[in-house]
Amino acid sequence: MSRASRTRPSGSSAALSEAYDTALLDLDGVVYAGGQAIDHAVDALGTARDGGMHLAYVTNNALRTPAAVAEHLTELGVPTESADVITSAQAVARLVADQLPPGARVLVIGGEGLRVALRERGLEPVESADDDPVAVVQGYGGPDLAWGRFAEAAYAINRGLPWFASNTDLTIPSARGIAPGNGAAVEVVRIATGAEPQVAGKPLPPMHRETVLRTGAERPLVVGDRLDTDIEGAFNGEVDSLLVLTGVADAAQLLAAGPEHRPTYVDADLRGLLTGQPEVTRTGATHGCGGWTASVQGEGLALEGDGDALDGLRALCGAAWSHAGDGSCGLDAGKALARLGL
Ligand SMILES: [Mg+2]
Repeated sequence: MSRASRTRPSGSSAALSEAYDTALLDLDGVVYAGGQAIDHAVDALGTARDGGMHLAYVTNNALRTPAAVAEHLTELGVPTESADVITSAQAVARLVADQLPPGARVLVIGGEGLRVALRERGLEPVESADDDPVAVVQGYGGPDLAWGRFAEAAYAINRGLPWFASNTDLTIPSARGIAPGNGAAVEVVRIATGAEPQVAGKPLPPMHRETVLRTGAERPLVVGDRLDTDIEGAFNGEVDSLLVLTGVADAAQLLAAGPEHRPTYVDADLRGLLTGQPEVTRTGATHGCGGWTASVQGEGLALEGDGDALDGLRALCGAAWSHAGDGSCGLDAGKALARLGL
């Protein structure tokens, strides 16, 4: 892909909720964490929706059905219809249906979200390698998925059946800590078969395609907390993105990001949807934003000025990304970020 690398965050004079028609929001680390709403998320989403922005929720988690996710969001104070939830189960079901005849039997290794999505596409979920499936599809099955399910997948794949995976996130956050995700389960089957699955979830194009097809978004803004799924997915789909710092990615990772992991905008939390974004200016080798200027000095990033910490981070992004070009910035940002409290 020969796209010019982004060298600084973009500015927007209009509020992002007005500049884009649809927000494609990641859930964990953006709207909620460990099942609880993240600070400011409920109010910010309510205000954005009242202002006319369409809100859609895009998750790599294939376990729960869209209806179950919508119910959870509604309970948290974010009224949501199941049609506004897009899961990697739906994306992989479309990928499977595009390659198999209607009514084809598919061995399911995963949860209810995957079965519902396959039926929605006219496919027939089956439970055993001996039920004459013509493909295997694997999605996150939750903590109760039995080990024998992986054996079932291996038997079928070793007979030559095509294999599909909803997503390959190695870990999944839970209220008690980090747990193995569907990517870890896919590795188990890969080790037993030597095969490679076709994958649908973020950051890959099938997920983005599913999202745009279902929402009809014309000017979508991807909103996420992870550089390697949400922001890379937006990059691959060639749409703009907003990184919020309420989840996985921190300021240091953002400064070190290579081209595919650089968001269009960065903000502290979902209140960033309701405001414009300040310009990052460049004068010679110095980047400025708000009251801050950032530059490269020796092996590190230097920061001067004062004001809003996020403006300081935006100026630092300009200095780091310009310096890194098509690579990833290895400069020491510790002192500059400590000054911002980030
Ligand atoms: Mg997330």
